[in-house]
Amino acid sequence: MDLTPSGRRPGEILADAVAGRRITAGEAHSLLLDGDLLELGIAANEVRNRHNDPEVSTYNIDRNINYTNVCVYKCRFCAFYREPGDAEGYLLPFEEIGRKIEETLALNGTGILLQGGVHPDLPISYYRDLLAYIREHYPDIHVHAFSPPEIKFIAKKERMSFGEVIAELKAAGLMSVPGGGAELLSDGVRKEVLAFAKTSAEEWVDIMRQAHRNELRTSATMMYGMGEGFEPRVEHLQRVRDLQDETGGLTAFISWTFQHEHTDMEDVPETFAHEYLKVLAVSRLFLDNITHIQTSWVTQGKKIGQLGLTFGADDMGSIMIEENVVSAAGTSYRMSQDEMEHLINSAGYTPRQRTNLYERFVTREDTSEAAQRYRQALTPENRELASPLPVIS
Ligand code: SF4
Repeated sequence: MDLTPSGRRPGEILADAVAGRRITAGEAHSLLLDGDLLELGIAANEVRNRHNDPEVSTYNIDRNINYTNVCVYKCRFCAFYREPGDAEGYLLPFEEIGRKIEETLALNGTGILLQGGVHPDLPISYYRDLLAYIREHYPDIHVHAFSPPEIKFIAKKERMSFGEVIAELKAAGLMSVPGGGAELLSDGVRKEVLAFAKTSAEEWVDIMRQAHRNELRTSATMMYGMGEGFEPRVEHLQRVRDLQDETGGLTAFISWTFQHEHTDMEDVPETFAHEYLKVLAVSRLFLDNITHIQTSWVTQGKKIGQLGLTFGADDMGSIMIEENVVSAAGTSYRMSQDEMEHLINSAGYTPRQRTNLYERFVTREDTSEAAQRYRQALTPENRELASPLPVIS
């Protein structure tokens, strides 16, 4: 994998990308180093409009449910985990997860992202039982669950292959796999920030490959800005593009910057909006085989998140009814469905709620029956997010 910057000028590379010619990792590296932000944005926007409806930007409504914060790993960038035995460690009862799903449905949601720390004591039967509980009680909710580090740990604990674990979880109700745990798919960085043990770059890719072979779609993520420079980011993009060439199973690419508060890496300088937008635009230009690119308002804030729609992104991600991992690192934003639509509208696009795998748009008529049924589940904190619904006394 040649990651060294190409000798070509950014203008030539951008012209190639806009014309539909694939750019190399070295060319992506050159764009990150020397590309002009606005020129990158214009080119990325053109490519975005080739992959997606130029008039529309999408979002979805789902909820991050972190079923446990207990984790055997100690990633240095993570402020969320608690070591086994820690008094602040938790494992949510199934009924509590059910209540969170009801609240999601009450807010016109269509799915959950179920992800945890890597709990050492949970056998595969725990995951099977949890999926079966959700399927039985909430058959309409999309279950996007268990990122590669969790799948690797289950495989090791049960002496199963990655593919066998995924097949068993799919049979129990798993519907797609989140791209969490990727951070940077570059083993030098992974060793440095203590993410190598949970999955090497190749293991992360292989788990996604096995998911795709089991006919499950997955997303791909990237978290950067841990002091690593541009080369590992380009390596990451290359690995993601290669996987998509091989399987075609990735629905979307989502990147965000490292949030450092309360982590072991608080001294790493923050990555600001200029660099975020540059990386977003280069991702859109390089990942010519992935249809959807999300902008991360959850980490960048609403204003930069919205601006991402002009730098190659076609999707705002979720309204985030609940988020624990980024907020543990000091960044916390919330948004109602109305506010999300206003944000997209005011950027010049028609907002459309989509399903979790981008198969179709969802209307409030589609979701209102379930929303009415579960509206009593809303906690006082989340009632303000439910503006289309009647006030609950
Ligand atoms: S990032 Fe995930 S695997 Fe790493 S310590 Fe945090 S919860 Fe555990």
